[in-house]
Amino acid sequence: MRVTAAVLYDVNKPYSVETVELDPPKRGEVLIKVGAAGVCRSDLHFQKGEATIALPAVLGHEGAGTVQAVGEGVTMAKPGDRVILSFVPNCGTATRARAAGPTSATSTRAPPASSTTTRRACTPRPGRTAPTWARSRGFAEYAVVPEMGCVPAPASLDFPQLALIGCSVTTGVGAAVFNARVQPGDSVVVIGCGGVGLNVLQGARLAGATTIVAVDVKDTALAFADEVRRPPTP
Ligand SMILES: [Zn+2]
Repeated sequence: MRVTAAVLYDVNKPYSVETVELDPPKRGEVLIKVGAAGVCRSDLHFQKGEATIALPAVLGHEGAGTVQAVGEGVTMAKPGDRVILSFVPNCGTATRARAAGPTSATSTRAPPASSTTTRRACTPRPGRTAPTWARSRGFAEYAVVPEMGCVPAPASLDFPQLALIGCSVTTGVGAAVFNARVQPGDSVVVIGCGGVGLNVLQGARLAGATTIVAVDVKDTALAFADEVRRPPTP
């Protein structure tokens, strides 16, 4: 099928919004209609060449959408499901993943089919190879992702909210709760109040930190941080 996607051909250049041929889902893969995608700092790192990825590429690893079709062997998603896209899908075969769900797996290795999947642009530039799609591929109307990269989403949240859970929420809250292991009564300093930092703040608050200090060079970021670090008023 032909879909519109934002393709990054070169670092420090704008994305090219163009028509791209998207192959149907292969074994273990799922076709998603993208509902929303966030622009994470990591996407900016790739665009500016501060982190490397094979180009051209379709980025957007923070997204959510609706399942449209599934490939052979898919059992954990079906058409119509609302899902959050995980850019670190696990192998799906570990004991903990089978027993307690994909978020409990100890391996983040995607199924083999997904690692070999690439898509091609309808109008490839001279001298360029076909675009690679990062695993979540949110900067497009549709994306094909590994089955294990689809996390069931609650109907109560809109796609823009769900998309953020694909990276900044899980990264930030996870850093506070699982990496720093913030405990009730702790004091926490968060340096940098972008998408991830704001979620570190909220993770610290959820974990019971009583003193939360936000550090940033932007007054607007600090104002936002001051808002989210406070418990909601009853
Ligand atoms: Zn991210």
